[in-house]
Amino acid sequence: MAEKNFRHNSQDPQGPSPRRPRKSLLYYYCVVSIIVVLFNMLVMPFVEEKQVELVSYSDFLTQLDQGEVSKVQIADNQILYKTKTDGLTKIHKTGLVDDPSLVQRLEDQKVDFAAVIPETPSIFLSIFASYILPILIFFWLGNMLNKRMMGRMGASGLNIYGKSGAKLYKPEEGEKNFADVAGQEEAKESLQEIIDYLNQPEKFQKVGAQCPKGVLLVGPPGTGKTLIAKAVAGEAHVPFYSISGSEFVEMFVGRGAAKVRDLFEEAGKHAPCIVFIDEIDTIGKSRDNQMATNDEREQTLNQLLTEMDGFGANKGVIILAATNRPEVLDPALLRPGRFDRQVRMELPDLQGREDILKVHLRRVQTADPIDYNLIARMTSGASGADVANMVNEAALRAVRHGRDKVTTEDLVESIETVIAGAQKKNSIMSDEEKKIVSYHEIGHALVAALQKGAAPVTKITIIPRTSGALGYTMQVEENEKVLMSRRDALNQIETLVGGRAAEEVVFGEITTGAANDIEKATQLAKQMVTRYGMSDKFGMMQLESGGSQYLGGQGQMTCSPETSYQVDQEVLQIISSSYDKAKQVMIDNRDKLDQLADHLYQAETITGEEFMEILAQ
Ligand code: ADP
Ligand code: ZN
Repeated sequence: MAEKNFRHNSQDPQGPSPRRPRKSLLYYYCVVSIIVVLFNMLVMPFVEEKQVELVSYSDFLTQLDQGEVSKVQIADNQILYKTKTDGLTKIHKTGLVDDPSLVQRLEDQKVDFAAVIPETPSIFLSIFASYILPILIFFWLGNMLNKRMMGRMGASGLNIYGKSGAKLYKPEEGEKNFADVAGQEEAKESLQEIIDYLNQPEKFQKVGAQCPKGVLLVGPPGTGKTLIAKAVAGEAHVPFYSISGSEFVEMFVGRGAAKVRDLFEEAGKHAPCIVFIDEIDTIGKSRDNQMATNDEREQTLNQLLTEMDGFGANKGVIILAATNRPEVLDPALLRPGRFDRQVRMELPDLQGREDILKVHLRRVQTADPIDYNLIARMTSGASGADVANMVNEAALRAVRHGRDKVTTEDLVESIETVIAGAQKKNSIMSDEEKKIVSYHEIGHALVAALQKGAAPVTKITIIPRTSGALGYTMQVEENEKVLMSRRDALNQIETLVGGRAAEEVVFGEITTGAANDIEKATQLAKQMVTRYGMSDKFGMMQLESGGSQYLGGQGQMTCSPETSYQVDQEVLQIISSSYDKAKQVMIDNRDKLDQLADHLYQAETITGEEFMEILAQ
């Protein structure tokens, strides 16, 4: 079964590349001259030395007597001399020997000779080389590293790093506006007021109305929270500060609080402006219900609360914060006068996805008319970021295939890439395995197709994916459902266990291929019992609470251990009866199962239409 958990990708493929701060030319000159000086001091003498030939003292004397030596330099502990043989001048070196007759011999041969006055290296140079230079190099390296790190944090249109580490986006650059945010109409409406306020504060002040100080954007990852915050700044033409909550959490107690102070000080200078704090839950976590308190975070949070209370509502600094875990936030943050407004950013619906697709395809060259609706239907459950990612993936695919326009087919293939990972090239699957996977996938599809009202299958493939999925069945929702009936849930579980059922019925043996199916089926069955009140035994009793609303974390059981045991029994019962049903489907439709599985085995990929055709024969 397809793994439909979409990865969050916060990268904006269309965003301009980060702009690095420009280093001065002088800086480069300094670096180059340091390197040249070093080279001269350390490497050159060595190179010169190499050309000097070392000879023994007796050889020197022989050469001297034969009149080959032309010039001699006597230094502290060595003698350097030149010889000229066959018109070639060579430099030689030999050790100094206490030889009183040397001067006489030299004079006899009429050789030009001199003692060298030992050279004392300039004191400045030596101090420079041994003390100042290392320090300079140290500073330079530190500086480089720092810039690197800052550069990595940077994003489009950013230009100033304050003490707080927040990034400032000036209103003119890389401006986003509401047209860039597709769907999310409710959110836009709620934020419109803030834009109006920033544009015409007088209008509000005249009536005595106060603008909200903080707005909390709540929603799952990738739904465009950062994007909409930028768009608000863009619409209002005000600067935009962006910082992530995790940047406040520092090693040392008190540093985070200082950063908060700096941030508000900076923002105050640029008012009116928007401050965006991403992942506010990292600092705003509820202070109770924690075993170990985190002093640093608490101080940071307190500082944030103080600052928010501190500045007047009409100062023009508006704070937008984003989180995907609203349930863990400290109530003090949500109090009036702080983040008293919440804007929900939900996963886009069918229409929303279509709109997001259009927004992102605007920036891409497209060929034939794109079937927006089809793509939107195939991406049920995807976030805006996923859709943006798919568009980029499709564009990359077009380039790979040497085309300059994106087609609908590119988009379809890119959905699969995002859902199931890229096709695994040259992965080896034995014939036997291929057969099993074919039956497994057809098992899913067959159950789904025979359930009335279940989503039809659009595509089945047994081409292994890099995500590890050996094959998958892609379902497309005809029209999106907001509510799931008990029947729907049971159908879904039956479809999930259908793969394993086919394996067992056909081969009398089961494989590890169903691990992902089992996980999903169990999760859903458990939720039916503990959350949705869909079991006969417990009815509408809540048995589980908490858990992240958006991240799908596990909640806590709120019942006694005995009840918990019974819940397990109930879950088991749902799954095993679904499994029995699925097995029965396989037995009753054995010939179709064989026929379809064989076709899939041959073709490796079959479309929904082909599947239905064979089934209807
Ligand atoms: P969040 O902050 O909620 O995690 P982001 O704002 O970082 O999500 O969204 C990441 C990217 O996804 C955006 O840069 C944008 O390209 C795309 N995106 C998300 N939602 C939308 C949307 N509603 N309309 C257009 N693009 C969107
Ligand atoms: Zn499966």
